[in-house]
Amino acid sequence: MRERLVIAIDGPAGAGKSTIAKKIAKILKLEYIDTGAMYRALTLKAIEEGVDPEDTEAILELIGSTSIYFKDNHIYLDGTRVDEEIRQNIVSRNVSKIAKIKEVREKMVELQRELAKSGSVIMDGRDIGTVVLPDANYKFFVTASVEERARRRYKELIESNQKVTYDQVLSQIKERDRIDSTREISPLQKSPDAYEIDTTNKTIEQCVDEIVDIIEGR
Ligand code: C5P
Repeated sequence: MRERLVIAIDGPAGAGKSTIAKKIAKILKLEYIDTGAMYRALTLKAIEEGVDPEDTEAILELIGSTSIYFKDNHIYLDGTRVDEEIRQNIVSRNVSKIAKIKEVREKMVELQRELAKSGSVIMDGRDIGTVVLPDANYKFFVTASVEERARRRYKELIESNQKVTYDQVLSQIKERDRIDSTREISPLQKSPDAYEIDTTNKTIEQCVDEIVDIIEGR
């Protein structure tokens, strides 16, 4: 029997991490854990409760009374399924402000490590290979040019009937990259032992094959 397999996938917004991770989870029979969804769920709650994402004290109070968990690959916020709500553009625009708060990260990292204990997992995020699961068997850093990432996000938002322009999406992604990469606590960075996968001119299938080949030692 194969030992427990732990895979970390990090990279900036819109690089294709979650699409790739879900496919690899299916192929290699791993549990997929989307850590971005957890930060998004807390952000959704702050927006719904009218809490300013930059008011650290209020956010900390909020986190104390919030439950976030996954069940059957769906994310639940205080017992309600919120898969779609957390993808709204208003959540994307605010999530990095909340994700840079030290105590928020501590709490999320604790929950994420707990989730990874259960068995073979593939976890995606920004700090998985560097902080959450530094002992992962394989680490990948998935990137793409900022224009390509904005094009993909724009298409997704238009397809889900959200009102935005390409230029707005491009500047929002640049702003999220800036906050995620320059924050003091566990900024987005490539772990030195991670394989870098640039998805700019590749199909999702090509990227998935590349990663599976590395894991299977081909
Ligand atoms: O992956 P996704 O784009 O859904 O992540 C949303 C946001 O959550 C990121 O822009 C980042 O601010 C935060 N995040 C994080 N650490 C993670 C996963 C996500 O800070 N491990």
